[in-house]
Amino acid sequence: MRKLAAGNWKMNGAPGSEAMLADLAAAVPQPGCDVLICPPFPLIPAFLAAAPGIGIGAQDCHWADAGAHTGDVSAHLLAALGVSAVILGHSERRADHGETSALVAAKTTAAQAAGLTAIVCIGEREEDRDAGQALSVVDRQLWDSVPEGATGENLVIAYEPVWAIGTGRTATAAQIGEVHAASRAALVTRFGAVGRTVRILYGGSVKPSNAAEIFAVDDVDGALVGGASLKAADFAGIVAAAAG
Ligand code: PEP
Repeated sequence: MRKLAAGNWKMNGAPGSEAMLADLAAAVPQPGCDVLICPPFPLIPAFLAAAPGIGIGAQDCHWADAGAHTGDVSAHLLAALGVSAVILGHSERRADHGETSALVAAKTTAAQAAGLTAIVCIGEREEDRDAGQALSVVDRQLWDSVPEGATGENLVIAYEPVWAIGTGRTATAAQIGEVHAASRAALVTRFGAVGRTVRILYGGSVKPSNAAEIFAVDDVDGALVGGASLKAADFAGIVAAAAG
């Protein structure tokens, strides 16, 4: 499967940050993988203009098409702008905004209806793993956060153990392999052959020095990258590893 290297800029960047995309494109002139950058909403138009060949995504959307939802952004407005994907259910939104898997599923339905690829994040907390419940927590999140109607184009799963996000701690290849295999099996059980076409990304302190090892794990179809996506040289190293 063609890998996806997706960068999550979170609440970082400033006007002018789109210059990074030219540096990235120059560093990886012909990536053999899909590349996506998800900046904060206000930077999206400039990023879209700056980056032919690099997909631009958003970091959240609302479940409704329109209405009285102050401060929220609809999926179809993002699609109209030219955005191709949206990250949903990131652990920071689950923790900071109390997002439940049911809400994430409703947002995913809206994103897919608008023609966006929903990148649905799942992942256990450290206490879940210590209690031997990593697989069951992730399986529950996967089941509850993903609505019917998945295709290989409208859905990407990102497995991001919460304890590995922004901490410099990366899950081991064995831990990643175990969760990705279980997630693949769950997708196939739920969606049949289509479940084999849904990309499953790993996220959690991916950097150029560990990307190749992570991408070699079965059923790792790319990465969702936070901190290392903010620097063109670092993200280019990850893109190069994804391109194989
Ligand atoms: C993320 O926020 O999705 C993430 C994986 O962050 P980092 O790469 O910084 O751990």
